Amino acid sequence: MPQIDIGRIERDINAIAQFGFNEADRGVYRQGFSEEDMAARQWLRDRFAELGMTHRLDGAGNVIGRWGPDDKPAIMIASHLDSVPAGGIFDGVLGVVAGLEVVRAMRESGIEPAFPIEVIGTSEEEGRFGGMLGAQAMTGKLTREWLDTAKDEHGFALKDAMKQAGLEPYDALHAYRRPDEIHAFLEIHVEQGPVLDMEKTTIGIVEGISGVFKWNCRLIGKADHAGTAPMNMRADALMGMADFAHEISRIIDEHGTDKSRITIGHVACKPGFPHTVPGEVDFTIVGRDLDEGVMEALAEACERVLSSIARRHKLRFEYEQMSWLKPAYCDAELMALLEDKAKALDLSYKIMPSGAGHDVQFFCNHAKAAMFFVPSVGGVSHAPDEWTHWSDIERGCQLLLEAVMELAVEQVLA
Ligand SMILES: [Zn+2]
Repeated sequence: MPQIDIGRIERDINAIAQFGFNEADRGVYRQGFSEEDMAARQWLRDRFAELGMTHRLDGAGNVIGRWGPDDKPAIMIASHLDSVPAGGIFDGVLGVVAGLEVVRAMRESGIEPAFPIEVIGTSEEEGRFGGMLGAQAMTGKLTREWLDTAKDEHGFALKDAMKQAGLEPYDALHAYRRPDEIHAFLEIHVEQGPVLDMEKTTIGIVEGISGVFKWNCRLIGKADHAGTAPMNMRADALMGMADFAHEISRIIDEHGTDKSRITIGHVACKPGFPHTVPGEVDFTIVGRDLDEGVMEALAEACERVLSSIARRHKLRFEYEQMSWLKPAYCDAELMALLEDKAKALDLSYKIMPSGAGHDVQFFCNHAKAAMFFVPSVGGVSHAPDEWTHWSDIERGCQLLLEAVMELAVEQVLA
């Protein structure tokens, strides 16, 4: 069995970290379609060229290196090359570098794959423009309308960012890959949560990616003088929101599962003055679960509880659903393959959901797709001190290699 070389993986991850690295906070700034992001994509193409792989940048900015026969569906090993502002060095990059190393290790052992292997650095996964552009384009979930209208938080248009990066925006619609071109899709990623690290488990085989709904909510009462309005005569919107925040754990106990999450991530009091009773509070609710029925029950409960709290506090409750993303499930056969290989390598593992979104979720309903995690120390991610031990990366990449070997050489999938 070929072995991966952790030294080369470390060197590659550190090399990519240089694109957008900021000495001041030691974070990586490589947002989708920035100069740094495009430079990292060119770097990857150069590595593909060194390995004798064919390579291209598709219309959506995905970098694709391919090795193996032309006439068979591909085993895709993919993750993203872009980062959040002040991000870490592993998020996304690990899944791309792991693919590169899998090809290197197989080539060195003189293996000729029966199915082609594609190593893909996807574009704009972190949502600078509100989606996962590269993965959406490849799976046909991209529209002309979205390309025309998407903007980043500074109001900079996606189309302009793509043009600046040397891409023709509508070419993204040509990045689509038919399901019959994809033999399997595999993504290895850092967990970005504390579970594996806390439980001293090496591998997290992902059963699915939680669905997410996002609401913009508003409780409207009456702004009053904080000194003259008696406590019992107020319609204090923040008090209503605080009551709701207290109810969240009960809502999950009654209607959710251990995979449910409800978060109030943003709150704004109006008028927002220390000596005025908040007449209005705007806040967000983000709910997640791996089961869409549970998501519906959670959403219903939030609405019911907020309506009754509003009555009690003499408030009006309004909300607007901004998005509803269904859960996505990984392929059972590929999960079983990862489990078998983890056992054979004597790695501790667990089956777990992914609360965070990933490229794989768009491939789940499109082809056979699976994902697994390696531990994030302390669960830290999207921050400069994101860390995963090299020894865990080594184990994860060896697992990936052995799974790919079975798919590419022994053709276990029907
Ligand atoms: Zn990521």
